[in-house]
Formats: sequence, C-alpha cells, structure tokens
Amino acid sequence: MQRRNLLKMAAVAGGMSVLTERARKAEAQVARATRGMPSPKIKDVQVIAAQVHQIPFAGEPPDAAGTSTVRLSVVKIITDQDGLYGYGCSTFTQRGELVNAAVEKYLKPFLMGKPTDRIDDLWQACYNSSYWRNGPVLNVAIGGVDQALWDIKGRQAGMPVYQLLGGKCREAADTYVHVTAPDLRRVLEDAKRAVKEQGFRNILLNPGYQTPGPSLRDGAVGTGDLGTNSIFDSELFARRSLQYMEAFRKELGDEVGLMVDIHERLAPNKAVQLAKDMEKLKLFFVEDLLSPEDIAYFRQIRQQCATPLAMGELFNSPHEWTPLIQDRLIDYMRMHVSQMGGLTPARKAAALGEILGVRTAWHGPPDTSPVGMAAQLHLDLACYNFGIQEFTFFSDQAKEIFRGCPEVKNGYMYANDLPGWGMEIDEKLAAKYPYGTDEQGDRQRLNGGWGELRRRDGTIVKQ
Ligand SMILES: [Mg+2]
Repeated sequence: MQRRNLLKMAAVAGGMSVLTERARKAEAQVARATRGMPSPKIKDVQVIAAQVHQIPFAGEPPDAAGTSTVRLSVVKIITDQDGLYGYGCSTFTQRGELVNAAVEKYLKPFLMGKPTDRIDDLWQACYNSSYWRNGPVLNVAIGGVDQALWDIKGRQAGMPVYQLLGGKCREAADTYVHVTAPDLRRVLEDAKRAVKEQGFRNILLNPGYQTPGPSLRDGAVGTGDLGTNSIFDSELFARRSLQYMEAFRKELGDEVGLMVDIHERLAPNKAVQLAKDMEKLKLFFVEDLLSPEDIAYFRQIRQQCATPLAMGELFNSPHEWTPLIQDRLIDYMRMHVSQMGGLTPARKAAALGEILGVRTAWHGPPDTSPVGMAAQLHLDLACYNFGIQEFTFFSDQAKEIFRGCPEVKNGYMYANDLPGWGMEIDEKLAAKYPYGTDEQGDRQRLNGGWGELRRRDGTIVKQ
C-alpha cells in the first residue's frame, strides 16, 4: 500500500514536471512574441522654431501687415536609442515664445528619462503636472510632445501612425480651401479657378476679409484691424455674409460644397437669424457661428433650422467640446489637434463623435505646421466619422524645411507611407529663419500677436 502510494506520487510529480516544463516553454514563447523593442527613454526635448513663408489661400495671398510669413513651432523628442526621435506641432503663432518656454523650461525637465512608449500615461502626467490645465499655451505644448511620441512609436513600429490607429478607412482625405480677395468678383474668380483648375470640390469663404467696414477716417472712434485701418460693423458683416454666399451658390452651382466662416463675430441672436437665412443655400457648414462663450445658443439654432454647424477651433478643454457632441448640437467638430493637446485627446473626441453622429473637420489653417497637418491627416484616414479636412497650401520654403509634406491631388490629401508622420525637418535650414524674419508692421511690433478689432463706438470685437 505504501509502495503503491509512493509510485502514484512519483508519477504525479513526473507529470507535473512535464507540465511545468511545458508551461515554462509556453511562457517564454509568449514573452518573446510580446516583448517588442526595448522601451526608449527620453534623452532630450527640443523646440524647432522658424518663421516660414505661407500661402494662406487659394488665389492671391494677402500681403498686408506681414501676413505672408508665419511663426511655426515643432517639438522634437530625442530618445536614447540611436536615430530614434519624433516631431510634433506646437505652433501658436500669437504666443509662440511662451509655448517654446513651456516646452523647454517645464515639460523637458519633467519628461527627461521617461519611457516614450507610454503615450496616454505621459499625456495625463503632463496635463496634470501644472495643476491648472486646459489653457492654450500649456495645451499646445503638450500637443507637440504628444504628437512627437506618436511619431516615435510609428518609427519604432516601422509604420505610419494611421496604421497604429487601426489602419485606413479611406485612401485620402477630401479637403476644402479658403478663397479670399478684396472684392466679391475676384473671390468668385479664385473659387472657380480652385474648382476647375485645381480640382477642389469644397470652398470656404471668410467674409470678414471682404467686409472691412467703415474707415476710421469716417469719424469712428474704434481702432482698425491689422493693416486695414477700419472698424468692424456686425450688421454689415451679417448682410455681406448672406449676400456673398448667395452669389457663391448661384455662380458655383449646387455641386460645390460651400462653407462660410463667421469667426465668432456676431451677437448670439444675430447668429440664430443668419443660420436660418442661410438654410436655403444648403451649405456644407457654417463655421464658428458663435463664440465659445456663447455655445449654449447652439440649442436654439438647432431647434430652428437645419443649417449644418461646425465649431471648435478655439476650444481647449473637453468641457467645451463634450456637451456639443453628446447633445448632437453640432455636425462637425473642428478642434485644432495640436491646440487641444495632440492626437491623444483628438482620437478620443473623434471616437465620441462617431457614436453620436458628429463628424470631424479638424482646423487646418496656415498657422498649423506641416507636421500638425500630417497628424490631422493620419486621423482623417483612420477615423470612420471623418467629415472633411481644411487645407492651406504649403509654400516652397515650407516644403524645403518640412520634407514629406502631405500632398493634395485633385482636392484629396494623401499621406506618404513612411513610418510615423512620414516627415523629416531640415533643422539647419529652419534655423536660418528665426521668429521675426521678414515680419513687418504691427505683427512684428506685437511679437507675432494679433492686433485689435473694434466697433464704431470703440468696443472690442472677438476676432
Ligand atoms: Mg475658422
């Protein structure tokens, strides 16, 4: 009996050792398969800042007050692994030097030595490290870091970032371009050229550029917008916006997608009225019909007309975009991806929008670096609820500095298939154009900042 028990125990022990060996091998196999590359650590955080030529609009770019150049800022994160680094857009033209200092003096010491592969964790750490959060300067600084980390992850994986987001939902992103000129006839000519010669299917008009308002010399006490020597007349602006969009629809036909940017320049009740008046024009969307301070009025507009609404370029905080998305009060979220804190919060907002039927139309003005435009494009390609992408042309100088810029053909923007954002920066060339290069007038005096816009009686206007 005792011997039988001993034999049984020996057999069990033998079986266990076989099992243990098998388990050990299996565990080792799993560990090998899931180990990936060693975790890169942050070795340096740098800012690349340059004043670069811009082509803001289709047609002739305006040349007043030094608007033909723009201050761009990009974060570069260098890892401890040979040749592994990444870029992220941190451009905030009006307060560029503050953002650069936020990156170099606060985020850099905080990030040194941390692993680059924990992107969401690092985002939360940076976001909470200042205690006060959701401000534009700190957000875009974090946005630059965040995008650089995604670039690094893509380079590590040998894949474009859109692959890390699940892969393409579409081959290219449909775009719209701005047209501007001093008068309606030339604006219409530019729009027709953009459609017929360049293949764009969607056009945005910013009637503010065609509505300078009465001259200061006409006895107004207000101070003029940058270089225009004029005041702002909201009644005239509302009338012109409607008249111009009527002319656009008539001249360009029903096939072209039309957008209008109201730039938050109307009182809420005027905005409600304008949305109703524009309903018949079947626009693609009306942009920034209200200022962020007045977004509660979207509910009224929604109840009164079906004009599609796009909002978000001035948003910094999820407290601003979440209510509009969850209550389906807008049709397009158009936050500035760098400004809202980078790809990490943008993809979360996009996912929320997908559930609730709100599409993306990320902000893509001239004051987005090509790196920032690429980050938006990768989201466009990977998000099912993509709506449209705002596009502004890259100057030849920008394309020399930023190699691998997204390309637009026939109105569609394409990403290259290189890892990360697929971009490299000629840092030596960028260093030749520090902030202030070729900057003139008030823009130079204000260190890249905007001026002021006032009503006839001298009241400041949101711009
Ligand atoms: Mg806008």
